[in-house]
Amino acid sequence: MATVTRIRLAYNSVYAIDNGAGRVLVDTGPDYRGATEAIDTALGGKPPSIVVATHGHLDHAGLGWHWRHRGVPVAAGYGDRHLLGRPALSDEAEFRAFVRYIEGSGAPSELQLAMLSAIEQRRDWAARAAGDTPHPPAPPDRRWPTGLRYRPFEPSNWVSTSGPLEAFPFVHVLLSPGHTPGNLVLTVPGEGWLFSGDQLLPEMTPTPAIQARTAPTPGGDWRYHSLPHFVASLRALEKLAFSRCFPGHGEPFDNVAAVIRTNLDLVEQRTGRVLATLCELGPATRFALCERLYPRAAQRRPWQILATVQGHLDLLESEGRAALRDGRYEAAG
Ligand SMILES: [Zn+2]
Repeated sequence: MATVTRIRLAYNSVYAIDNGAGRVLVDTGPDYRGATEAIDTALGGKPPSIVVATHGHLDHAGLGWHWRHRGVPVAAGYGDRHLLGRPALSDEAEFRAFVRYIEGSGAPSELQLAMLSAIEQRRDWAARAAGDTPHPPAPPDRRWPTGLRYRPFEPSNWVSTSGPLEAFPFVHVLLSPGHTPGNLVLTVPGEGWLFSGDQLLPEMTPTPAIQARTAPTPGGDWRYHSLPHFVASLRALEKLAFSRCFPGHGEPFDNVAAVIRTNLDLVEQRTGRVLATLCELGPATRFALCERLYPRAAQRRPWQILATVQGHLDLLESEGRAALRDGRYEAAG
């Protein structure tokens, strides 16, 4: 029989799963000031046998460096090696690909400039946060008591197939790509537990990010098409029966199948709206679609709205219902 301890770390939750033979920590925890002390207190002097990072985002993998430094093995999805091993946007080719994407979005020039300056700031911030520097100030949304650091690290165990966790087979790791290319979820089949990371969250709808592939081929499509993968992963989870979900943010919940269904329905509804708008507009740039679908938000939060609309365009394209020609999308099929 396994037991689980939830460790709340401001906006994040990490979980210690015990079965007597081993202690598996789900997610490394975010690297804000005081986080490691909070984890140590919660673990009561019994360090994890292994830590599994569900994905390479800084709030889930930020303390990977710390665990490795303490000699604790850390496992992570091989598809996230580009996120774990270097500061965000530090790869020059990747940065240029983001710039070209913004320039080809069809957004008016003042919004393009705002988006370009935002990604430059993100790159500069990530470079600073990668060092052994004091924690940055708290973010405006106060999700954590200080800003987060992210020190790149090399996991000890790369996960590239689904199955029982090596040495601790009471926990299974499932490849669940979409949120990031190497995203993982963990399950304890004996208990019906799902540790969902950011794949499944209570009261939160999935928003795909505009992100790079793990290892883009020069001249090929640099962008990872998140939402089609995310939806496929959610459909795969829907086929399994879970009694309880322990998410990376928010409260654990029992109505797992219903939450999965709600998420899938919502994606389907939004995709239907994007397709209807595409039919109405004819060939349209990404930003023209954003403006039609979310007129006010597209001006205020252009990058976020672009990501949302892009996700649904990717889904339509993967289903043969839309096609991209010369920077414009049009309905197909
Ligand atoms: Zn995430």
